[in-house]
Parts: sequence; structure tokens; C-alpha cells
Amino acid sequence: CGIVGILGASDVAPNLLQTLQRLEYRGYDSSGIATLCEGAVTRRRAVGKIAALGDLLDRQPLAGRSGIAHTRWATHGSPNQANAHPHRAGKVVVVHNGIIENYAELRQELMDSGVIFTSDTDTEVVAQLCNSFMAWQNDPFEAVQKTLDRIRGAFALCFLFEGQDDLMICARKGSPLVVGYGDRDEATGMREMFVGSDALALAPLTDQISYLEEGDVAVLSRKSVQIYNHLFQPVERDVRRIELDE
Ligand code: GLU
Repeated sequence: CGIVGILGASDVAPNLLQTLQRLEYRGYDSSGIATLCEGAVTRRRAVGKIAALGDLLDRQPLAGRSGIAHTRWATHGSPNQANAHPHRAGKVVVVHNGIIENYAELRQELMDSGVIFTSDTDTEVVAQLCNSFMAWQNDPFEAVQKTLDRIRGAFALCFLFEGQDDLMICARKGSPLVVGYGDRDEATGMREMFVGSDALALAPLTDQISYLEEGDVAVLSRKSVQIYNHLFQPVERDVRRIELDE
């Protein structure tokens, strides 16, 4: 039960895998990674140790400069590959820690409207719901807002969107989540951006961290960061330089 997301300057799968290893201490039964490569989502998921995911990535490497990854501690649906995160619905791919309390009613509602589920998790309703809102307006931030309005429970979420290589949206309610800032490249004005369950996990990647507050949503790109509070009002969150003893 850990989350990591990276908008990188080069292929992110190695750093995602390394960060998952730093989240192992939280316990887990399966793990997975999704990246966007030339806009398209590709996933690798494995049951058991992160080493198993590493072996899979050795055999079937993942390219892509944007990615999200997850260690799962199953709460809804047994620990198998189909239930491992990231979960995907259409253009939306998401990782989740926590529990969506009203998932059964949302799942039924979505199934009634013709959605076909591919896992037994509470998390997939988040992906499917968000994708159904995307189909209306095709605006990721609005789709996430509408999704957050509907889900109850405890969560840390991190989303990517197919075709949008420079966008990552994350949200927290009841589960911790931090945003990490890379150094800005003077020439391009861009920097790598990171999301993680804790600052310790991100330590090899950055020491510049904002702690999201309860209900916050962060919309990240390599050029800009905007954080919103639980009312979706823009807010500032301090960026702190963290000193972590290895
Ligand atoms: N409730 C989700 C699941 O069972 C997420 C569990 C977790 O926090 O890892 O897939």
C-alpha cells in the first residue's frame, strides 16, 4: 500500500521500481506500474514480491517519461494480477491506497449504464467513473473533481490520462500523499515532478516536498503545479527542503 507517480525527463520505470522498493516496508501482496509512451498507456503488474515485477520489466521493459506505480494490500478482491493496480478505464489510469466505501453502489450504477468491469476491486470504480466523466467533457481535472464528489472513504489517488504526457493529478483524503519537486531546468523552464505516499520513498529523487493536506487535489505538469483544497479553491502549500537520514 504505497503510491508513486513521476513526470520525468527520461524513462521513468527504473525510478518507479526503485521507489516501490522503498515503500515495501508498508506491506503489500502485489505491485504494478503504468507508463505513457507516445501518449499510450502500457501496464505491467505482478503478484508477490517487487522482485517479480522487476523480472517482468526485465523481460518486457516499459518505455515512457510519465508513470505511476503501486504496491497493493488487497482490501476488495483477492491478490491476483487482474486486481493489481494501476487500474485502467478508457483514457484513465489510476493507483489508489485506501478504501472506497460506496464502491458497491457506484459499481452497480456504472454496470447499469453498460460499463464492463475487469477487476473485483473498489478502485476500478474510480477509474470507470472518471472515464465516464471524461467521455462527457474530455477535461481531466473536471472529471477528477466530479469523481471525488461521488466517492466516499479514505484514499490517496494518482491519475494519468492517455494522450496527456504532461499531466498527473493526485488527491488525498484520509491517506497521506506528498508532492516532490525536481530542479528546474533553466533552459526549458521544466522540472521533474513526483508524487509519493511519503517523503522517505522519494528521497533518492528529490528533497523538495509539499505535504498535501486533507482533501487537497494537485494538478501537476513539468511547467506548473496547482494545488486545490477540498472545495477546489486554489491554495498554496509550502515547499520544504527535507533532510532525511538514510
Ligand atoms: N482498496 C484497494 C484494493 O483493494 C487499495 C488497497 C491498497 O491500499 O493497497 O485494491
